[in-house]
Amino acid sequence: MLDQIQQQLKMVSVKGFLAEAEAEALYRFAFAASAQGPCLEIGSYCGLSSLYLAAACAKNGSVLYALDHHRGSEEHQPGEPYHDSELFDAKRGVFDTFQVFRSNIEQFNLDEYVIPIVASSQLVCQHWQVPLSMLFIDGGHSDEATLHDFLNWPQHLNKGGILAVHDIFQNPLEGGQAPFNALQALLKKGDYDFIQRIDSMEVYRKKRD
Ligand code: MG
Repeated sequence: MLDQIQQQLKMVSVKGFLAEAEAEALYRFAFAASAQGPCLEIGSYCGLSSLYLAAACAKNGSVLYALDHHRGSEEHQPGEPYHDSELFDAKRGVFDTFQVFRSNIEQFNLDEYVIPIVASSQLVCQHWQVPLSMLFIDGGHSDEATLHDFLNWPQHLNKGGILAVHDIFQNPLEGGQAPFNALQALLKKGDYDFIQRIDSMEVYRKKRD
């Protein structure tokens, strides 16, 4: 399944900000975790990480909740450094990644394994009830958004579940500090064991007790 995704990605380009080694790690951890329950990602964008996570879920008959308001983060808005005009709907004056996301999931035949949730992370978290086997946090990168995601979503992770977090830079010269600082705030509680770092992604396991 991983091979298939990688082969197909050579022909169909999917926009995203994820190194190949990070994507492979997501697949590997989701494959190990998702037999125990569904996975959830925050920040699907055009679906690149979703493809890998969902392909792993598919192997276990599990499912990926792909959460994104699909309006882009701060850095994707017009005039900002990661703006992509192809994803800007000029008619409505909004950045919109949902159509592209949906089409990518369909092209890779993964619709049966992805439940898109088009809403803000804060809103969904307030109402969330489903225990998760794996959580991938790659949502908004502001201090407020990262603190919210890192301090609230992990409570829905099963004991022994996998927490993967993206864009973790200890050195400010390498990247924004919001995810790193939010991660430190979460780790202070002592509930997570470090497993591995892959590029800018870090992976933890929630302690069993
Ligand atoms: Mg990211």
